Amino acid sequence: MRFKDKVILITGGNSGIGLSTAKRLASEGAKVAITGRDKDALDKAVKELGSNSLGIVADVTKLEDLDRMYITIKEKYGKLDGIFANAGTAAFIPISDITEESYDQLMNTNVKGVYFTLQKAIPYLLPGSAIVLNASVVASKGNAGTSVYAATKAAVRSMARTFSGELSQKNIRVNVVSPGPIETPLWKRGMTPVPDEALARIAQGVPIKRFGTEEEIAASVAFLLSEDSTYIYGVELNVDGGTSQI
Ligand code: NDP
Repeated sequence: MRFKDKVILITGGNSGIGLSTAKRLASEGAKVAITGRDKDALDKAVKELGSNSLGIVADVTKLEDLDRMYITIKEKYGKLDGIFANAGTAAFIPISDITEESYDQLMNTNVKGVYFTLQKAIPYLLPGSAIVLNASVVASKGNAGTSVYAATKAAVRSMARTFSGELSQKNIRVNVVSPGPIETPLWKRGMTPVPDEALARIAQGVPIKRFGTEEEIAASVAFLLSEDSTYIYGVELNVDGGTSQI
């Protein structure tokens, strides 16, 4: 029960890695606030998570939504002990086909969204709080078709360092988890759905020849949010079946 009486915000908590992390944290005693744009998915997720959960419809690209999100958490729980800034999207598009629209959508969701989620959290976070950002192994690879997506995740990785530099003085830790390919709805419902044959090739490209599970990411996020990692600041934890190292 590492999160007994702790209040944790998970952006993009109505699906995939975010929802599995909410379940993991709730199973360890946390009160979880989850967000997303899709109200039906949020309501369903809150039902699964049970009474110690709160669903807030909020688009991370809209600053007024982020303001309302923190006010709602304060009103319901009175405090905030941690954040998993997870909301994000992906697109696999060759450089020549990137449009201004797809560029803006990726940058706004994955970079602006994470940046202002963190900035606006600062007045609410208690000393001893922890933040985990969700980047990706693509940030340090040169995979074709990921030019903008990978750049967004490299920005996220960088933010963990600079936010750590400023927030460590307030006794707030910031770290990054960088998943390899994980079996989630993203592959089919992201900006560019990926066909099954391509998914099979991606699995073969992982040193251990399989996609990771949402639960494998959730376990690592729980570690970085917990008091088991109180001397860990600004790191990137690759949870990727060896993709980044082997
Ligand atoms: P999902 O599609 O299952 O989840 C994405 C989540 O982000 C949903 O809850 C979605 O909710 C939310 N979201 C997307 N855009 C916004 C927005 N503008 N405002 C608020 N919420 C938003 O995919 P994953 O679980 O795979 O993705 C979660 C994170 O993991 C992403 O940041 C992704 O880049 C990262 N990641 C995933 C990998 C993978 O292989 N699956 C690998 C590496 C990183 P809603 O649609 O309701 O807004």
